Amino acid sequence: MRELIEKVLSECKKYTADGRVADYIPELKKACPADLGICVLGGSETVELGDCDKRFTMQSVVKPMILLLALMDNGRETVERLCGVEATGKPFDAFNYSDMALRGEHINPMVNAGAIALCTLIGGEGKDEKFERLFSLVKRLSKNQSITVDEAVFRSERETGNKNRALAYMLKAYGMIDCDVEDMLEVYFKACSISVSCKDIANIALVLAHRGRDPESGEELIPAEYSRYVTAILAICGMYDGSGEFALRVGIPAKSGVGGGIMAVVPGKMGIGIYSPSLDKKGNSTAGVKVLERLSAALDLSIF
Ligand code: GLN
Repeated sequence: MRELIEKVLSECKKYTADGRVADYIPELKKACPADLGICVLGGSETVELGDCDKRFTMQSVVKPMILLLALMDNGRETVERLCGVEATGKPFDAFNYSDMALRGEHINPMVNAGAIALCTLIGGEGKDEKFERLFSLVKRLSKNQSITVDEAVFRSERETGNKNRALAYMLKAYGMIDCDVEDMLEVYFKACSISVSCKDIANIALVLAHRGRDPESGEELIPAEYSRYVTAILAICGMYDGSGEFALRVGIPAKSGVGGGIMAVVPGKMGIGIYSPSLDKKGNSTAGVKVLERLSAALDLSIF
């Protein structure tokens, strides 16, 4: 397994040149475009290779965690009433809803509007408690209590995130959320700025791959029903408006983020974390997708 992953990584390194590091959040521009790292957990060994020690911000990879906590705090009906489950087919930050009214059924938890809306369902008194509860869930599932928030990325996104600000105010204007918008954006921006390694997100994926259980101890960390819910959503729209193509080529439920991370859940088998910050036009890591495509073919990992 190690040799195979090593080979795939060296073959796919060249694809980092096909993309560009995200720059709409100024602090993300500092990433090194040629980085490529991976952690594969599950099966008989743990494989960590390439730039796997680099830390990167979760960005949209945190969206499945927001969804999970919203489900755990409120149950499925409330979550589904606020935020639908169908793929939008639109970019993650789309706010052109002029062709139809903005309603819960028209968004999903993996686009920004849905994730921001779901932040309002996280239990806790104010923004700080809500964020801390989300942060604890991320630390618990990644088995890493020393995870931190990248304050520079957080400030950078808070200062420049006017598209998300517009989306959030639109949610409020349409009566979908009723809260202090700036507070809710702070929870969302901070969540996106949680700084992780490939192993951290591979650990989270491994729990989802085992329907919410820690595969070593057997302990239930998340209710199985919600683990399945989140994994199904990843299969439908985890790779933004590139999810259909990704399903055909790779066939693994996964979530990408503009920080360059991809968290891939191979049901019953593996958790995979990849970091490579050069992104394609849809915001998915160019080399990361290629690595997953080759691993999926070589190890027969497609769920379809
Ligand atoms: N923080 C980013 C944003 O809201 C997350 C988007 C992403 O990773 N696609 O724009």
